[in-house]
Amino acid sequence: MSRTLHAEIEALHRSITKIAQRETARATKPEVERSPLDSKLGAAAAEGLDGLLARPTPVELRQRLEKIQKRLRARKPDAPRRDLGREILELIDPLGRSGWADELLSRSLEALPGVGPKRAEGFARRGFERISDLLFWLPTRYEDRRRLVDVSDLEVGRTATFVAEVKVVDWVATRRGGRFGKIFQAVVGDDEAIVTLKWFRGGEALAKQVVKGRRLLVSGEVRRYRFSKELIHPEIEVLSETSAAPARQRDLGRVVPIYSAPEGMNPRTLRRLIGQSVDAYAELCVGHLPETLVRERKLPSVPASLRALHRPDSDIDVDQYEAFASPAHERLVLEELYLLELGLAMRRAQGASRPGVAVDAARPESRTAAKALPFRLTDAQRRCVGEILGDLARPHPMNRLLQGDVGSGKTVVAILAAVAVAACGGQTALMAPTELLAEQHFRTLNKLLTVAGEGMRLRIGLLTASLPRAEIKTLRGRLATGEVDLVVGTHALVQGEVVFQNLVLSIVDEQHRFGVTQRAALSAARPDGRYPHGLVMTATPIPRSLAMTVYGELDLSVIDELPPGRKPIETILLRAGEGQRVMDLIRETLGRNEQVYVVYPLVEESEKLDLRSAIESSERIAQAFPGHRVDLVHGRLDAAERQRAMRRFERGETSILVATTVIEVGVDVSGATLMVIEHAERFGLAQLHQLRGRVGRGGERGYCVMVARGGSEKSEARLSAMIRTQDGFEIADADLEIRGPGDFLGTRQSGHLPELRIADLLRDSRLVSLARDVARHEIEADPRLSRAPATRRAVRNRWGKRIDWTAVG
Ligand code: ADP
Ligand code: MG
Repeated sequence: MSRTLHAEIEALHRSITKIAQRETARATKPEVERSPLDSKLGAAAAEGLDGLLARPTPVELRQRLEKIQKRLRARKPDAPRRDLGREILELIDPLGRSGWADELLSRSLEALPGVGPKRAEGFARRGFERISDLLFWLPTRYEDRRRLVDVSDLEVGRTATFVAEVKVVDWVATRRGGRFGKIFQAVVGDDEAIVTLKWFRGGEALAKQVVKGRRLLVSGEVRRYRFSKELIHPEIEVLSETSAAPARQRDLGRVVPIYSAPEGMNPRTLRRLIGQSVDAYAELCVGHLPETLVRERKLPSVPASLRALHRPDSDIDVDQYEAFASPAHERLVLEELYLLELGLAMRRAQGASRPGVAVDAARPESRTAAKALPFRLTDAQRRCVGEILGDLARPHPMNRLLQGDVGSGKTVVAILAAVAVAACGGQTALMAPTELLAEQHFRTLNKLLTVAGEGMRLRIGLLTASLPRAEIKTLRGRLATGEVDLVVGTHALVQGEVVFQNLVLSIVDEQHRFGVTQRAALSAARPDGRYPHGLVMTATPIPRSLAMTVYGELDLSVIDELPPGRKPIETILLRAGEGQRVMDLIRETLGRNEQVYVVYPLVEESEKLDLRSAIESSERIAQAFPGHRVDLVHGRLDAAERQRAMRRFERGETSILVATTVIEVGVDVSGATLMVIEHAERFGLAQLHQLRGRVGRGGERGYCVMVARGGSEKSEARLSAMIRTQDGFEIADADLEIRGPGDFLGTRQSGHLPELRIADLLRDSRLVSLARDVARHEIEADPRLSRAPATRRAVRNRWGKRIDWTAVG
């Protein structure tokens, strides 16, 4: 097959359209003469049709081609007919439309011979809605049937393929689980040994094939049965009497693809359907990778790859195939990643081409403010501030992620950016995930401003839903008139009609806590049609290879260094029953005049229960340490009360703060050195790491006590990772390993990326960067993919509403 199916259809479409047009023309206008061209076209079309009909094609396409062939044959050169011309034109026309192949590939499984509407519906419910779903459902394993063993060499516990003759067949009545049934069984063997095959179902059909004296090719797992061996539901193939014939011989040594079948689907049926669809439809699939890349890496075509994987040759390297590392795998993985990265690149380009508000970053205010801080910025902080100011100076919106471990000092970086913005008369909004955190940011800011004095001029405000209405109203007024440079708040910032005089920078803290829509709302267009700069901050590091895709449209700044002088935190794991140790540690801490957090998980299903245990615990602790003040904060307290409690703790008036996880993110109290985490087994690894990051922020050593009360293998793995390392990136790697990539990513991408069917961001991380480079390059050259309409369509299918297609034109 030298030409692709698509090329042949295109050629055919051209010649047949001309024929049909001439047929119509000659039928209506006698002056149009027959010409030698007519017979030439006719011959070309006939040849093209024959060629196409000789190929395996979908039934629907085949029928259409056959109809055309019939009409062409019905033509009489001397008596042209207008209706015939029109009929042919109608038949050929759809094949000239772009996307005809996509349409066929999107057909329901009903389009396959032998699949009725009912079954098709059943398949659709299990995720096989379209033919293409079958094509791209790749085998997870390959069974090697190339090596035939002798029956006498069968080993219990192994899969084996062997040839044997049927010696005896019979039906055995059974009672399993109180139900009567009949087992069909066959004793098969060769000259030296025998083995039993059993089928609990489907025996009636098999009995016709498995007949005494026949030779079978048998494949399956060998099990022990009393003193002999047996195979339950093996795969069999009846060999003809003369199985030495070469044609059959070749069939023997096959590698058979094994698919994981969704619940309620027979794996063999699935394999058969996939085989059918590969035969008829694989040829319709086109690749989208740039031709140069395909040539460079010597990649097989998409149809060839599909055939290679679903209908493997008998000489494949099974290990390579199972590792998804064959050239065919590489092609399909790259194709998928390319569409993913194209979408990301488009989204990125979309944002980057929007009008923004350029800030004069050369002004000195931000530098002066940095000097006025009570500490020196780390090199990493300085670099990140530089990267952000660089973005702010451009007339297009920034779209940047600031990643840094707990305590690495992200807030200061954000504030310095706000100072630069304020110096040019712009406003900054900083959105935090909880009221507590917003309040805390606000207090930190106030403190910093006091310390920095003249060096840092910033008018700040706080906006959360639970503030008194009058306060909210006043603040809104000041935002609208531009009397506030930096407003800190919760999602209340994007609810209701908060009007800014000149919003230039939107910052989102701990972005994984927010829905995509909330983030989007904060970076929505301003009334003048320009877009504010966007910065998202996260303390939950993820491995770089994943970050590239999960945050694919963001630029990345990383604070990879902690402020100097931080002592490592001592992490201690205690079990239920070691409560006395906890009390001792608290006593020691209080004795050093340092403060203590005690954190309780708050799981929604048992919210009341957990709240009660937090309350009880605070009472118990208060009794045990009569000279000290104990406070309790939780999500049900109203804002003012919570704020007062936090302030007391911050000022050191409270020694012990018992809290539900509301303190998890970002709280910063430098006098606190002991963190007790109750029911540590219930927390995720990232949460544990965050909580631990709350202590030891001043000069003193911090302690983190995790009290585990039961738990699973996974929770043990989390706790031991906490003991092993304090590095956020290592924690992230461990988290990934414990949870597996699907789950790990699932919670982070929360539907803002399309699902991957073949590629795996971890396994294929090398190909991810390749796909990304190629995709970015392509989008720079052709932002709307107008030169590759089929690819554009494919991206659109994949991404759907996740990309604003009106903006892409
Ligand atoms: P996070 O990155 O977790 O949000 P913060 O911004 O809350 O970290 O900073 C943690 C603590 O470190 C704060 O008390 C902050 O004032 C302090 N800090 C930030 N940068 C430095 C620095 N360069 N040197 C010393 N302390 C710093
Ligand atoms: Mg923070």
